[in-house]
Amino acid sequence: MKVLITGGGGFIGSHLAEAHLERGDEVWALDTAMNLKVRHLLTNPRFHYVKASVLDAEALEAFVIRADLVYHHAAVVGVEHYVDDPFNVLNVNILGTLNVLRLAHRHGKRMTFASTSEVYGRNPKVPWKEDDDRVLGATTTDRWCYSTSKAAAEHYCWAFRRMGLDVSVVRYFNIYGPRLDKIDVGRVITIFMGQLLREEPLTIIGDGSQTRCFTFVEDAVRATMAAGLKPEAVGHAFNVGDDRETSILDLATTMLKIAGREPGAHLKYVKQEEVYGPRYEDIQRRVPDITKMKTILKVRPQTSLEEGLRATIDWFRYESEHRPSLTTSSMEAKG
Ligand code: UDP
Repeated sequence: MKVLITGGGGFIGSHLAEAHLERGDEVWALDTAMNLKVRHLLTNPRFHYVKASVLDAEALEAFVIRADLVYHHAAVVGVEHYVDDPFNVLNVNILGTLNVLRLAHRHGKRMTFASTSEVYGRNPKVPWKEDDDRVLGATTTDRWCYSTSKAAAEHYCWAFRRMGLDVSVVRYFNIYGPRLDKIDVGRVITIFMGQLLREEPLTIIGDGSQTRCFTFVEDAVRATMAAGLKPEAVGHAFNVGDDRETSILDLATTMLKIAGREPGAHLKYVKQEEVYGPRYEDIQRRVPDITKMKTILKVRPQTSLEEGLRATIDWFRYESEHRPSLTTSSMEAKG
C-alpha cells in the first residue's frame, strides 16, 4: 500500500510513518519542517521525505495521486501559536485541510484527518463522547482559534463525506512519547522534561488539580491506523486517547519519582497569567469516552502512564546527550 502522511515529519506523523513501514507499505511524508524526527527512516527505500506545504495544492497533488491512503496531520499546533500567531493557525489548519480534502476527493482516495480533543473546548461534562457539545469562549480569546480551526476542518470533512469521500476523523487526547516537542517548549511533558533534566523545580500552573488523559503515542498510532484501514471507520469521528485521568500534580510527581527525585521539594507553583498572559484560558478536565475506539477500531490503550513516561524520559535523556538537535531549542522556557 502507498501512504501519504501530511505532517509526516512531526511527532505523531513520524510514528505513523514508522508503523506503516513496519507493515511493508511505502510512505511519503510531506512536511515543511526539517526531517529531524524521521532521519532514522531516511535510509529506508520505502520512505520518502517531501519538503512541501499543504497550502501548495499543486505540489500536494502529485503525492495525493500516487497514494492509496492519505493521513492529514499537517497543522499548526501548540499553545504558543494559538496565542502568538492565530492567523497562521487558522490559515494552515482550515485552508490546508480544504486542499487535502479537495485532492483526495478529486482522485478518489481514502483519507483520515487528525483532529483534537480541543474541539470539545471546556465542556464541563466529562467524559466526552464524539457527538457531545463544543463549549468555547469568545472569539476575542485567541486560545479558541485552534479548536475552531480544527472544528471547521472537521465540518469540511463531513461535507466531503456527503460528496462521497471516504474520510474518518481522529481526535487526539494529549499524546506523548519520544519525539514530542523539544524540551522546554510545547506541551507540559516537554516543559517538565527540561526542568527534570536540569534538576530544576517543575512548574505547576495553578494548583495542579487540572487533569489530562495522557496517551502514549504507540497506542494512538494503532488507533489511527485502524481509522485509516478499517472500512467500518469511514464516516466516523473517534476519540483517540487513554481514559485514565491524571492531574498535573500527579504527572509532575510521577515524573520526579521515575527520575529518582523527591517530589515535595521540586515543585514550583506559578500563576497561569504569568506563563500564558491574560489571553489564555486553561481547561480543568479533559477526558475521552473511548467506546467507539474500542468497539469500531478495536483498539485499547495498553501503555500505563508510568511505562510511557519512563520510555519518554529515557529517550529525551539519551537524545539530549547524544543528538541535542532533536531535543533542544533556542527558544526560552515558558514555565
Ligand atoms: N502546565 C503546567 N506547567 C507547565 C506547562 C503546562 O502545569 O509548565 C499545565 C497547563 O496549565 C495545562 C496542562 O499542563 O493545564 C496541559 O498543558 P499543555 O500545554 O500540555 O496542553 P493542553 O493539554 O492544555 O492543551
